[in-house]
Amino acid sequence: MTCLICGNPYQSMATWTKIFLYELDSSTCIRCLEKFEISQSTIDFTDFLGTPYEGAVDSVYCLYTYNEAMREYLHQYKFLQDVALAKVFARKLQQAFHTKEGIVVPIPMHPEKLVLRTFAQVDELLNAAQISYQQLLIKTKSETQGKKSKKERLKTTNLFETIQTIEATNYILFDDIYTTGATIHHAAKILKDAGAKRVDAITLIKG
Ligand SMILES: [Zn+2]
Repeated sequence: MTCLICGNPYQSMATWTKIFLYELDSSTCIRCLEKFEISQSTIDFTDFLGTPYEGAVDSVYCLYTYNEAMREYLHQYKFLQDVALAKVFARKLQQAFHTKEGIVVPIPMHPEKLVLRTFAQVDELLNAAQISYQQLLIKTKSETQGKKSKKERLKTTNLFETIQTIEATNYILFDDIYTTGATIHHAAKILKDAGAKRVDAITLIKG
């Protein structure tokens, strides 16, 4: 097989799980996969204490750190629009979602941004991992988060609106990167206000 990242041929490893159970292949060689660093950091929500977003998110699980390999990956995946790269983390994502129960809700892009990017990179990560999800949110504001301070981001009115009925059940938000946590908290609050019982979040990266 040919590695999606380095382009070199490699032998896919036959494991017992692969033989007996259905397991996705990430189409990436071991050398490239090992360059991604598993995130060990625990997310605390102290920034949100005393804000309207306190208690909105029940837990956040981030898979990887934002290291050099991940920076290069994101550049190629998002900006050079190499949609095939969505497969790289398919297996890891499948494992992560197996540990949680709930309706998976990807964080949507603003429609204008989607036109620029041509594909929804967050949705494609889930598609590649064969994780079913529901589009329950739309992004109504297109402010660039990078230009605002953390305080400003927390104060802004919610970035999202619901587009379908939210049930009294568990939801799992999914996004590519967790940086300040504002995006995840905004989305979680909208779901909780609409009746969600519990909102967990999984992100590929801890920024
Ligand atoms: Zn490789």
